[in-house]
Amino acid sequence: MSKKSQEILELYKSKVMPTYSPSVVLASGKGVTVRDVDGMTYYDFTSGIGVNNVGYCHKKVVQAVQDQAAAMLHCSNLYVNTPATLLASKLVEISGLGGKAFFCNSGAEANEAAIKLARKWGSANGGRYEVVTMRQGFHGRTLATVAATAQAWCQEGYDPLPVGFAYADYNDLESVKAAVNDKTVAIMLEAVQGEGGVTPATDEFMKGVRALCDEKNLLMIVDEVQAGMGRTGTWFAWQGYDVKPDLFTCAKALGGGLPMGALISNAKLADVFTASAHASTFGGNPVAAAAGLAVIDVIESEKLLENATKVGNLLKEALQGFVDQYDQLLAVRGKGLMLGLVVDGDAKEVVDAFKAQGLLALTAGKNVVRFLPPLTLAESDLEDPIDMISDALDCTFGK
Ligand SMILES: *Cc1c(COP(=O)(O)O)cnc(C)c1O
Repeated sequence: MSKKSQEILELYKSKVMPTYSPSVVLASGKGVTVRDVDGMTYYDFTSGIGVNNVGYCHKKVVQAVQDQAAAMLHCSNLYVNTPATLLASKLVEISGLGGKAFFCNSGAEANEAAIKLARKWGSANGGRYEVVTMRQGFHGRTLATVAATAQAWCQEGYDPLPVGFAYADYNDLESVKAAVNDKTVAIMLEAVQGEGGVTPATDEFMKGVRALCDEKNLLMIVDEVQAGMGRTGTWFAWQGYDVKPDLFTCAKALGGGLPMGALISNAKLADVFTASAHASTFGGNPVAAAAGLAVIDVIESEKLLENATKVGNLLKEALQGFVDQYDQLLAVRGKGLMLGLVVDGDAKEVVDAFKAQGLLALTAGKNVVRFLPPLTLAESDLEDPIDMISDALDCTFGK
């Protein structure tokens, strides 16, 4: 590591609260690669944790941001801004839900908005407020979304947490049924769990949750913060199932790298948030919205939904080859370009070995290596990363 990296890292460690523990200082990115301040390049199979779905510095995204920044950086929600209005319209269209969108700035805020909307609707529909969420799910770091995230590592030390949540097991419909009572207003889940281990919902589970919501007059809320915006081969991961949620949330990749979150509703819930019932100063920021419109344009014009499925399947096959080869690798799972490699041991050790070879990947939980490469990843981009994975596994597990 050069002096340059070291200096910044030391300053970081002395001045930035240690909620993360990074060791690489990045300077720039292009397509599926990033470069650190020392000039070392890496394949980025994290997309900045599911954000850079169209790759780094896509021409159209950069242009949209530059043009909008030169015209107007911020426009309060007391006035209409065109990019956010067009983006709302586009999100309603590609979701096919027929409702409306609310904009905010992050995934946690989008989920917070979903929970608030569900409570507002529930208060007028039987005085109900409780939201059932899934163990191993992840919904964000605000107090309410931490309460919605049924995992000890996320909740420890933050008591008292907001009340109004009940927990069930993912892919276990009976356990969801058991968690529902006369105070329940909604069931909230990811269609593919990200942080919890890259676990897709089964078909029966998604359909069962929908049927249960219909039967008990509950709202089905799907958190698409990580799996959305094309990652799993459909615009939103719930579209890979034959169900429609009442509400879903979106963030990470939505703003093309700028902070943006959204809550999208069906027609029934489109006007539950009335004037001043909820708000966000920066929500629908015109620059972020312009970037979001460019992201959707790129996904459409470059056929990235199809690409995510095609290249995702190729990467999955290659990973399955390693699972067959190494006893320490247990399984590969996921959808499209959201893939998890289950390790019998510490996933972080494998991720560190990948990094030493020049490939950035993520963990999900303790024992899953998570891959979230840009959806622009071409078949021809796979060769080097797969060689790096091969060498890293060889170093870690030997032959
Ligand atoms: C990342 C994530 C969140 C939180 O998003 P932030 O933008 O970090 O607040 C919520 N839900 C899921 C599924 C996520 O992956």
